[in-house]
Amino acid sequence: MSGVVHVIGAGLAGLAAATRLAAEGRRVIVHEAARMAGGRCRSYYDQQLGLTIDNGNHLLLACNHAAIGYLARIASMDALVGPQDCAFDFVDLAHDERWTLRPNAGRLPWWILAASRRVPGTKALDYLGGVRLLTAPADATVVSVLQSQSALWERMWKPVLVSALNTPLDVASARLAAAVVRESLGAGGAAARPRVPARGLGPAFIDPALAFLSARGAEIRFGARLRGLRFLEDRLISLDFGEETVTLGSEDRAIFAAPAWSALELVPDMQAPTEHCAIFNAHFAVRSPEKTPLLTGVVGGMSEWLFAFPDRLSVTISAADAFIEAAPEDIGERIWREVAPIAGLDVAQVPPMRIVKEKRATFAATPMQDALRPKAETRWRNLWLAGDWTQTGLPATIEGAIRSGERAAEFALRP
Ligand SMILES: Cc1cc2nc3c(=O)[nH]c(=O)nc-3n(C[C@H](O)[C@H](O)[C@H](O)COP(=O)(O)OP(=O)(O)OC[C@H]3O[C@@H](n4cnc5c(N)ncnc54)[C@H](O)[C@@H]3O)c2cc1C
Repeated sequence: MSGVVHVIGAGLAGLAAATRLAAEGRRVIVHEAARMAGGRCRSYYDQQLGLTIDNGNHLLLACNHAAIGYLARIASMDALVGPQDCAFDFVDLAHDERWTLRPNAGRLPWWILAASRRVPGTKALDYLGGVRLLTAPADATVVSVLQSQSALWERMWKPVLVSALNTPLDVASARLAAAVVRESLGAGGAAARPRVPARGLGPAFIDPALAFLSARGAEIRFGARLRGLRFLEDRLISLDFGEETVTLGSEDRAIFAAPAWSALELVPDMQAPTEHCAIFNAHFAVRSPEKTPLLTGVVGGMSEWLFAFPDRLSVTISAADAFIEAAPEDIGERIWREVAPIAGLDVAQVPPMRIVKEKRATFAATPMQDALRPKAETRWRNLWLAGDWTQTGLPATIEGAIRSGERAAEFALRP
């Protein structure tokens, strides 16, 4: 195959595809609508805070093999940090209680027999309910299969699954939840170890990928918004960028790695998720006290996960649509009142803050929306789809986006 591969979208799906293709020596042109790469996974300088922040804190797990492979390819393996053993610190605001969830490394989950490793107020038998999740039918919701009136629900399943799925759990897909649990906790604590890009998303995932592409002669066109696609019989023949039309030669191929809403607009007869859920992040410009863990799960409040970076404290709230209209200062102050005591800081000293609302952070991980996700292959022999919204078997995650990009690249590499 000697033609060019055009990649539409420089989010993680597009960058995974582009770097894979470039690594194989293919000629690649990436077309990105925005002025910067990264899509929903990006860092930027915030004038008001005087800090570089991420659009949202991102948590990965040691089992995210595609993400780790991508980081290895772009020489960014040291970007992810986290504990040697599987350990998740939690705080329950309502009961003023702290604990560390410590699953053992191996597949046999003996940790549920050790009170010091499991969630306080739970019994070993409670955890067996997780089997119902793993065997749930495709149309089941999380709440319909897990016991939602228990300490284990409030203190483990709810905080873990609402952030993994970014969807209210009464409507969220049990099958997608099971996919996450199967690959992480289900494979043993070693697989579930938390991993955080502590120096930021851009330095970890985006900047090294752009450098990798440039070094291999790939072209990256920013401000290039795809506006139309033209087809002839079973082939894509041109890409319309408004001021410019790119004609595809007989050997040329394309990977569409823009979000679902762009696919619905541009790709004929497209079926794709139509509903999305919001994520809020509150970034506080304050030095994190040394003893604050990198990551703390927060239960019994509005905050969900507290990330302690050297130059800021950042809080994530998933499935945050209920707060979309709320004034940022009100949300920020409420969150600060919850997290300042966790970090041992003065509640009265509210630091400069930035609230980032990502309205369409991920597709709503419901059984119905999951059923709308398309495969990578299209009916055109030189066009493939990628993105966290395609059929990855996972909810919308970095891992899913990267897997989808790798898969689309595999197709584009075939003779
Ligand atoms: C706040 C937040 C927190 C998150 N937290 C986590 C987490 O903790 N862990 C985790 O694993 N995942 C998390 N995610 C999800 C993760 O960020 C996404 O799944 C992933 O980044 C999606 O990558 P993508 O390439 O599929 O899509 P996108 O990042 O949306 O990339 C698509 C790209 O296409 C471009 N584009 C759009 N239209 C066009 C067009 N017409 N022409 C050309 N280009 C176009 C866009 O500008 C964009 O750059 C989070 C997401 C958000 C928003």
